[in-house]
Amino acid sequence: MERIAVFPGSFDPFTIGHQSIVKRALPMFDKIIIAIGYNSEKKQFFPIEKRIEWIKQAFRNNPKIEVDTFKELTVTYCKKRNAKFILRGLRTAADFEYERAIAQTNKKMYPEIESVFLLTTPEHTMVNSTIIRDIIRHGGDASQFLPDIDDKEAYLRG
Ligand code: ADP
Repeated sequence: MERIAVFPGSFDPFTIGHQSIVKRALPMFDKIIIAIGYNSEKKQFFPIEKRIEWIKQAFRNNPKIEVDTFKELTVTYCKKRNAKFILRGLRTAADFEYERAIAQTNKKMYPEIESVFLLTTPEHTMVNSTIIRDIIRHGGDASQFLPDIDDKEAYLRG
């Protein structure tokens, strides 16, 4: 059976921290679906189409990676995609507390699911989408925190 992991998040924007987690998880799975949780009523910074395009570019030519969006509960989406693993990254103790509650709740709702956590590498610990949005909003240069893609300029204009 294929080992499929879903990496769910808002990825607004997708950072080098997210990219590093996916790259390191690749040897563990046959396929990783990077799934952008999308709520049309929730305010977003980058349009969903751009987020999809940028993530695809960050992993171009990697047949093990798929990019998708979802609106339902994460576990509902995982069932639909036949994924038995949820991939998440851990930066801090605050991340741990938040992730613990989500993972334990997900396990109650879908007992076959396992959440897999990778600790961030030290150089990515401070990379944070909220802070990057603030940098861009205030005209700063956030390029060093974002994956190399063709139209990186578009990221920076916000
Ligand atoms: P969410 O809105 O669900 O928290 P995010 O897009 O912020 O989604 O993050 C998705 C996942 O990536 C989460 O598990 C988060 O902890 C992890 N993550 C975010 N930034 C980093 C980073 N710099 N290093 C490692 N993991 C990270």
